[in-house]
Amino acid sequence: MIEKIEGNYPKTELDIKRFRIPGLKINAECPNCKEMIEQDIGFKDYFDYTEIKQPTERHFYCHKCEHEWDEKIILKVGVETLLEEDPEIQKLVKEAFFQ
Ligand SMILES: [Zn+2]
Repeated sequence: MIEKIEGNYPKTELDIKRFRIPGLKINAECPNCKEMIEQDIGFKDYFDYTEIKQPTERHFYCHKCEHEWDEKIILKVGVETLLEEDPEIQKLVKEAFFQ
């Protein structure tokens, strides 16, 4: 049983050329024409050697009015133990390990 997860991982660059997170999308409104622009992190808009725990800028391009701008984001990575008393977590554990 895991007793503790400790340590503060440093601000560091992920050594991953194409870090995709399936299902993650970032939506931003074009400051010029108000068009909603979607970035699909699980597909073509992956993180490209993005640093973790380091505020960074993502570049957006509006296909409607051709305006370009940057938005600030921060990428965090975490590890957690599974809470045994949570019924939803129990279901996931059962599915993952005891099929
Ligand atoms: Zn626009």
